[in-house]
Amino acid sequence: MTAAIIDGKAIAAALRGKVAGEVARLKRDHGITPGLAVVLVGNDPASEVYVRSKSRAVIEAGMAPCDHKLPATASEHEVLALVAKLNADPAVSGILVQLPLPPQIDAQKVIASIDPMKDVDGFHPVNVGRLSIGLPALTPCTPTGCVMLAKSVQPSLGGLDAVVIGRSNIVGKPVAQLLLAENATVTIAHSKTRDLAALCRRADILVAAIGKPELVRGHWLKPGAIVVDVGINRVSGEGGKSKIVGDVAFDEAKALAGAITPVPGGVGPMTIACLMLNTVRAACALNGLKASL
Ligand code: NDP
Repeated sequence: MTAAIIDGKAIAAALRGKVAGEVARLKRDHGITPGLAVVLVGNDPASEVYVRSKSRAVIEAGMAPCDHKLPATASEHEVLALVAKLNADPAVSGILVQLPLPPQIDAQKVIASIDPMKDVDGFHPVNVGRLSIGLPALTPCTPTGCVMLAKSVQPSLGGLDAVVIGRSNIVGKPVAQLLLAENATVTIAHSKTRDLAALCRRADILVAAIGKPELVRGHWLKPGAIVVDVGINRVSGEGGKSKIVGDVAFDEAKALAGAITPVPGGVGPMTIACLMLNTVRAACALNGLKASL
């Protein structure tokens, strides 16, 4: 068997197109332009790249960007004051504070200060709690994208065995909650899990969110499994050039899996598309409107 390749780029582009349509409808019918405020503290180069691509996507979707850059020396008080201002600003539908934050700032405190209705990253304890008890919530972007990719090949995940490798608050735990909400039977594995390979062999859906290059080998997979690879690992490739690989040994896995996301071009593009989706959903909720997406 050769796995179907799940084209995250195409699925993300289609989702961004739908978001742009919803933004146009909100402007036309309600005079509302959703706005996303992105707060960047310091000069972390990777964060600067992410923030630039988020702002580009906001503009492409027809939404209003609202970027705030604070110096690496900014105090916790300054960041909290900025978030308070954005919470109160009716032009801002979503607030994203780019992580990581410099060490003098308590990230959990900053996240908890965001209005849960504007928490487009889905990291606020209120949204985490709402997701866990099955209430509507703004859900984290990468995990939401993972589930969409799995559903693109298997629309109903009910009753399937899902194994999520990784238990971070950003990826592993919310992916597990979202799969549970889809009625999958979910097991969460982590660095203390015994016999990971045997566990993976039971998985109809395997989500790898580990951060270890090609840890998951092809022979670990159940034939026909849906494999969603979240990992982004830079390794040295041919001729000393570096390349990006996932947490799954792709060439081995594609011989056995039913469907697999590539790295790059799988989960990665879904994160920003789901951020745009959350922003438009937040704009609707803040204005008492039902989102059509
Ligand atoms: P973390 O480092 O926060 O979590 C990694 C998880 O993997 C931990 O739960 C850890 O277990 C587990 N783990 C580590 N080693 C093993 C092992 N040998 N066997 C089983 N489990 C193991 O990472 P993140 O969740 O933040 O990210 C995971 C990956 O996803 C990274 O490569 C990251 O770059 C990528 N990523 C991609 C995104 C995107 O595509 N847009 C967005 C976010 C992340 P334990 O808890 O026991 O330590």
